[in-house]
Amino acid sequence: MKNKLIIAGNWKMNKTPNECRILAKEIISSLNGIMGIHVIFSPPFTGLNEIETSNPFFKAAQNCYFEQSGAFTGEVSIEMIKSCDATHVIIGHSERRMLFNEDNYTINQKILAVKKNGLIPIFCIGESLEDRNNGSTEKKISDQIEKGLIGIDSLEGLVVAYEPVWAIGTGVAASPKEIEDIHKFIHNVLKNIDKKHYTQVLYGGSVKPENSEELIRVPGVDGFLIGGASLNVDSFVSIAKAMEKYRSN
Ligand code: PEP
Repeated sequence: MKNKLIIAGNWKMNKTPNECRILAKEIISSLNGIMGIHVIFSPPFTGLNEIETSNPFFKAAQNCYFEQSGAFTGEVSIEMIKSCDATHVIIGHSERRMLFNEDNYTINQKILAVKKNGLIPIFCIGESLEDRNNGSTEKKISDQIEKGLIGIDSLEGLVVAYEPVWAIGTGVAASPKEIEDIHKFIHNVLKNIDKKHYTQVLYGGSVKPENSEELIRVPGVDGFLIGGASLNVDSFVSIAKAMEKYRSN
């Protein structure tokens, strides 16, 4: 039996505050009483305060800055995120890495700061198509993990999301075998950093109702980080229910 599973919806730069409130409310009412799954909503910053959650529903920011406060125009501190009752922060999403030039050093600073402030980082890693084609997937992933976690001995309170860049938003998920192999590799790299704690590793990249039943069975997959399909009540709810069904069998 796997640990409690996680389904996290990354709404990216979509939904006004009012739309965030409505979407979360509809999902919560459809998943009322769900067992064995933590459901995390990650709206844009402007939606965080609009959503009311209680266990097993949680809120995540999509990013943060690592400084406490000060002259950092356009940035949002962890203290501010905490004050919206968010419990998690997505760090190092491939869109942040590619479009906003976040490197492993910045990501490490953010993970350190999120952990220090008592929130849970959802630490995203994943190789590009080029990495995969030239055989450097494992090197890329271990580099991202080891550099992103410099200075961190205990992995308690950390969630990892494996998201192959070529599968994000493309409609083509990685195959169960590809996911199983890389999740096994990731769990081993994490074990070398901290033997004591089991770190939940989510899969992300074109998860949808049509493939969620198959993908949740893959060994080493502890849940999903979902983009596109998290914006629609029916598809998100159907994935969460498939996870619940798998867990109850
Ligand atoms: C994501 O952006 O984290 C993601 C997994 O997107 P999608 O589900 O749309 O591929």
